[in-house]
Amino acid sequence: MAMIADVVIIGGGIVGVSIAYCLGLKKPRKFRVVLLEKEALCSGSTSKSVGVIYLQHFTRVEIELIQWSLETIRHLDERSQMRLDFNKIGFIHLCHGNEEADRLRQNLSLQKGAGVQVHWLECQDLLKIIPQLTVSDVSGAAFTPDDGYLDPYLLTTAMAKQARDAGIEVEVGTEVEAVIVERERVRGVMTNKGKIEAPTVINAAGPWAGIIAKMVGSTMPIKLIRGQILAVRPKTRLTRVVPMTLDMSTGFYFREETGGLILLGKLDKAFDADSGPIDPDDYYEYKEKPDDAFKDFIIKRVNEKLPSFNDSQLVQGWVGLRTVTPDCLPILGETEVKGFLCATGFSGAGIQMGPATGQIISDFILDGTPSPYLEILSRRRFLGTNHGLLPFTEKSL
Ligand SMILES: Cc1cc2nc3c(=O)[nH]c(=O)nc-3n(C[C@H](O)[C@H](O)[C@H](O)COP(=O)(O)OP(=O)(O)OC[C@H]3O[C@@H](n4cnc5c(N)ncnc54)[C@H](O)[C@@H]3O)c2cc1C
Repeated sequence: MAMIADVVIIGGGIVGVSIAYCLGLKKPRKFRVVLLEKEALCSGSTSKSVGVIYLQHFTRVEIELIQWSLETIRHLDERSQMRLDFNKIGFIHLCHGNEEADRLRQNLSLQKGAGVQVHWLECQDLLKIIPQLTVSDVSGAAFTPDDGYLDPYLLTTAMAKQARDAGIEVEVGTEVEAVIVERERVRGVMTNKGKIEAPTVINAAGPWAGIIAKMVGSTMPIKLIRGQILAVRPKTRLTRVVPMTLDMSTGFYFREETGGLILLGKLDKAFDADSGPIDPDDYYEYKEKPDDAFKDFIIKRVNEKLPSFNDSQLVQGWVGLRTVTPDCLPILGETEVKGFLCATGFSGAGIQMGPATGQIISDFILDGTPSPYLEILSRRRFLGTNHGLLPFTEKSL
């Protein structure tokens, strides 16, 4: 006999778990929510992330979502008393040349208008914060001292514990194999462990969101892009905080990590880059090691920007997938199939936007609250564009 639920969430990364957590805070007692995760919690992009939460974004919607996430995290911290340890190391956006400097300065007013504590740094100020940095070609930087990072695994599992305590069923090792649709309405899912009937199903499957969309005969305008990280130990012990620092020109970034390590990476959100399609299953099984091209990029950037770190010892490297949309904003809310919602395409910012997404989606499910974010971030914004978007079509089992 099929299990019956009110809501099924597909995916146990930060996004799916945030939705479960927020539903758990507000749902009526007998409202049944089941989260399905095919592997273990955080086994997708969430555990590969570097956990940075920063307010130096370039659109109002991103800034507001992240502010809301921070509030949600603070509330979780108080409720769970799990000490999520937000490490307030600050965020520095480096720029080169007049054009980048103008863009960054223009953004300061947008960010300040949204209540963000952000300052402009000249090179001499920058050197006081990161003395190891080569600033000869740098035109300045924007600095948000209150930004920082936390452990994405801890954040997600803290939310999952609270969700379970509130009666949400979190089923790991349970793979959704089909989404059941009848007369343009979702009816439930078929899993490797049986059928679950539900009037609401949420696609929070991160890099697998396109595969889930295909189950209802549709597509998602998302592209999977490799995100690679090296963790190194500098020969000379670090005596002061190394903020998260992002070079606007190259996407090179670094930040301190606990245990005296430095994380080095590259932010790449190029939706239109000419790279072949990636199968996330194949990917996570075989391609988890950083490649030579990435290592060469990092060596070059360290030589240019942080020469005193170039004799650092390599401790570890890993690779994850970013699920990127054409405008680098997530896709949230209803689709053409009634009751089938999506929350995906976080374009490298799912840790910082996941908690707010949980609030938005749970409010919509429980009260039908028409959030303006659901309007702005709707999948409909890509209809009629050239991103290969197919309408959802009926497919029943
Ligand atoms: C190197 C790197 C660094 C990053 N750094 C940051 C950062 O500093 N800050 C930030 O905000 N973001 C960062 N990100 C992005 C962030 O990791 C993602 O945006 C976020 O983890 C997405 O979460 P998710 O829940 O959507 O997806 P995921 O964490 O991938 O979760 C999706 C889950 O769905 C499950 N699933 C898939 N198919 C099925 C199925 N059929 N049935 C059941 N379960 C299924 C998967 O197993 C997976 O666990 C980074 C990403 C990378 C790769």
